[in-house]
Amino acid sequence: MGALVFFSDFDDFGTWKQALQSHLPTLRVLHWKEVDDPKSIDFALVWKPPEGFFREMTQIKLIVNLGAGVDTLVSRTDLPEGVPITRISDPQMARMMAGFVLFATLRHAREIPFFEQAQRSGQWAYRHPRNLEDIRVAVLGLGELGSRAANELQRQGLTVLGWSRNLRKIEGIQCYAGIETLDTVLSQADIVVVMLALTPKTRGLLNRERLLRLPQGAAFINVARGALVDQAALTELLDSGHIGSATLDAFEHEPLPKDDPLWRMPNVLITPHLASVAIPASAARQIAENLVRVANGETLASQIDPALGY
Ligand code: NDP
Repeated sequence: MGALVFFSDFDDFGTWKQALQSHLPTLRVLHWKEVDDPKSIDFALVWKPPEGFFREMTQIKLIVNLGAGVDTLVSRTDLPEGVPITRISDPQMARMMAGFVLFATLRHAREIPFFEQAQRSGQWAYRHPRNLEDIRVAVLGLGELGSRAANELQRQGLTVLGWSRNLRKIEGIQCYAGIETLDTVLSQADIVVVMLALTPKTRGLLNRERLLRLPQGAAFINVARGALVDQAALTELLDSGHIGSATLDAFEHEPLPKDDPLWRMPNVLITPHLASVAIPASAARQIAENLVRVANGETLASQIDPALGY
């Protein structure tokens, strides 16, 4: 079957090796430190390998990104030309993300940050719950993870708007597409959930001007990438109250620097980029199928388009 090299500082090599070999027993799965001859490598399963990693892998046939977002991979300069890149596309990963988005959205919809603050000062601060249908949630990005999350939110009774590059048709969701409709979507959002791919077109998309389109007091959730948002403007607008509260799982610089003002803002919940992760037991099958397909010259699943960046 050939040899696959593994690189990740976040994922367990032994678990992935076992999961892959349960589908492909003859696949040699090597930790990157075990590779003597890079020319003998046929496949790579990687999350943020160091610059130059692929340079001598002249026989490589497929690069699998160990995650959904491929932004750090496609922007590299050492990628072997013409070698296909696939991403992980795993229903369990989509479910984990949808769960996180549901939690974060309902937390804002049910005004939990307000009650947390009231509790800290010992106040019985009754606020009558709003009807969920009266709360509009804009999901920016309706890809594999975004569309699943949007569906879950809609199932809870929230009014869901979706925004993407190409117009999507999703039952029960008001879909919009293209940059010219973004302000319309933002201006209606009580809660905005960022689930876009980071590409040259979307980098810095949520700048100060666009964030100002959000209604006063709107909640902001980012589970995608920090660089989609002008973090300084977001911080300023959270401070002024224009943006009422935020749940942030992704940042311009990770880990978020210790002196970043976001850490100390009472209206901000920070999580260290873990809204969803790839799960070996469920994702290994799809990776194994793609290795077989590439070996047979067949069409791959979840192949990304380097020109588009996702
Ligand atoms: P997909 O690649 O499946 O979808 C990306 C979405 O972004 C699509 O809806 C796409 O539009 C949209 N998009 C891309 N470019 C533009 C543009 N110029 N204008 C408008 N919309 C655009 O990604 P996933 O849904 O699988 O994942 C989304 C992101 O979540 C990932 O890219 C990654 O950064 C992040 N992520 C974060 C994790 C975490 O733990 N925090 C874990 C996993 C992923 P269209 O539908 O028209 O193609």
